[in-house]
Amino acid sequence: MKKIALITLVSLFVSCNSSAQKTESKEFPVTKTKAEWKAELTDEQYYILREEGTERPFSSPLNKNYKPGVYHCAGCNTPLFKSEHKFDSGTGWPSFDRPIKDNIAYGTDTKLGYSRDEEHCATCGGHLGHVFNDGPRETTGKRHCINGDALIFVPTQE
Ligand SMILES: [Zn+2]
Repeated sequence: MKKIALITLVSLFVSCNSSAQKTESKEFPVTKTKAEWKAELTDEQYYILREEGTERPFSSPLNKNYKPGVYHCAGCNTPLFKSEHKFDSGTGWPSFDRPIKDNIAYGTDTKLGYSRDEEHCATCGGHLGHVFNDGPRETTGKRHCINGDALIFVPTQE
């Protein structure tokens, strides 16, 4: 039943909303206008967070970053991922086996013609990446495939 309801919801969304900006119709604790976001973010950050873009694989310096610390949302500074949950997926995007619970929210992305679990910041709605089920089996089995440009790394203070 749950699945049918979800499909109905998704098709309802697709039929009423031709644009990909689905996250803008929801209410988030942090809400800004397009112009405000443009003024605060770099072009790359805006493209990913606000237009659900994807950076080129292996382009982010955070891809190979394994220093201890926390990865924050580049849009609103909410902590989203911890360094101990980061792993090398070989995909070219920073990958985590789990997020910081409740700081992330999920949607459905059908842009590539099939359904993917999209994930975004629960505070500002900024798009982060996608979740897949081919993560490390010894931990969660999940692979949170995240754009490095959507994140700000905050190193742990020694
Ligand atoms: Zn955010």
